[in-house]
Amino acid sequence: MDIEIIEMAERKMKFLLRNSSPAMANALRRTLLSDLPKMAIHKVEFHLGPLTDDTGKEYESATPLFDEIIAHRLGMVPVPTDRDLFVPQDECVCGGEGCPNCTIEYFLNKSGPCTVYSGDLLPMTDPSHREAFKVKDEFIPIVELVNGQGINVIATAVMGTAKKHVKWQVCNGVGYKYLPRIAIDPKAASRDDVLECKDLCPRKVFDIEGGRLVVVDEHECSLCRTCVEHLRDGKGISVEGDDTCFLFKFETDGSYTAKEALDEAVRILRDEANEFVDQIENIGPESDLLPPEPEPEPPEEPEYQSEY
Ligand SMILES: [Zn+2]
Repeated sequence: MDIEIIEMAERKMKFLLRNSSPAMANALRRTLLSDLPKMAIHKVEFHLGPLTDDTGKEYESATPLFDEIIAHRLGMVPVPTDRDLFVPQDECVCGGEGCPNCTIEYFLNKSGPCTVYSGDLLPMTDPSHREAFKVKDEFIPIVELVNGQGINVIATAVMGTAKKHVKWQVCNGVGYKYLPRIAIDPKAASRDDVLECKDLCPRKVFDIEGGRLVVVDEHECSLCRTCVEHLRDGKGISVEGDDTCFLFKFETDGSYTAKEALDEAVRILRDEANEFVDQIENIGPESDLLPPEPEPEPPEEPEYQSEY
């Protein structure tokens, strides 16, 4: 399996998966969607009662939304994830209690009138990591406060995967198609019904050059075969999907860059494949897999036959 990058931005990528199979393409899609570990806010502690801000102004710890709605909104905020710095809580040396290796704590303290945004979450970490741990989208509205209202919370992010909850989902819009292969018969390229395909094609794959139909953007083809159905006898243009080559695209929520997400997905797939091979090799000879042979039943005692 080979990967050829076609477009790469910080949060989205388009690439070709060559020399592969539909099963492998689907495995990569599922890994990108649900197996990448990322940090997300999992616990939110609300301060209750009156609060005082830096100027001495008093306000009430109250918002127009229920606490659980605010906690849910905070959970969906993309938290940057560095796989070299963090481990899942259940694999951590702290035994799951929470420590700087498996959690990031954020402090949020605002008083109205204002709109509280995701960017108001301040990482409670040493100054060297503060910028790196700031949430990626700073303008996600969390709640609107009026005069006299305030919010004061400590939110804790831990690592998880989208198998458990969508807040741990890194990639979205993950999709692929068989790479389109379009061939125009040179003898038919100037035929009227073939030329009409330029305007018929909904994805604008064709153009006309020198009175002949040519393919200008093969990757755009959705394999709808509108052109082939329009042709006389269905001949002149052939459109096929290549089931060994796949055109992939996906986006990330910002917790990983697109490149990091693809690297991590390939690493996870490779580790799982190696583990599977190890397990197969450790099974032992085929005879171990068969159920034990039943003990032969003892021969029946011959019935006593009288000699008389
Ligand atoms: Zn820990």
